[in-house]
Amino acid sequence: MNAQPDTTGGSPADCLFCKINQGTIPAEKVFENDGLFAIRDINPQAPTHLLIIPKKHITTLLDLQTADEELIGSIYTTANQIAKAEGVDRSGFRVVANCGSDGGQSVYHIHFHLLGGRPLHWPPG
Ligand code: 5GP
Ligand code: ZN
Repeated sequence: MNAQPDTTGGSPADCLFCKINQGTIPAEKVFENDGLFAIRDINPQAPTHLLIIPKKHITTLLDLQTADEELIGSIYTTANQIAKAEGVDRSGFRVVANCGSDGGQSVYHIHFHLLGGRPLHWPPG
């Protein structure tokens, strides 16, 4: 358990991204394999804004376990493939995961934003 505010439910039964994975809430899936899927963000913050989401319900980065290391590694190799498919590999892109309240996490099922298609500011706001 964690003490973070939880806007989508802490269990797979009422989790937005688990529902999208199961197909009960629609989303445009651009990639899928056994461990993860990628969708377009409903409120894009850049011309390319995808979410890479493990199928396993993991609430925050703080809930990751050693057994998840291979899965999380595959997030980045998938980001590599998607960046090429989306045509942002040469211009550059960012992969970021928000954790908890100050991190700006709003959906409590871990996910990795892939942003590109415009210059991204640093430090982030
Ligand atoms: P977070 O704020 O937790 O880092 O990121 C959650 C992301 O999920 C936000 O960028 C938000 O726009 C996106 N999002 C929220 N609800 C939906 C939805 O129903 N469909 C899709 N495709 N994205 C969503
Ligand atoms: Zn979930």
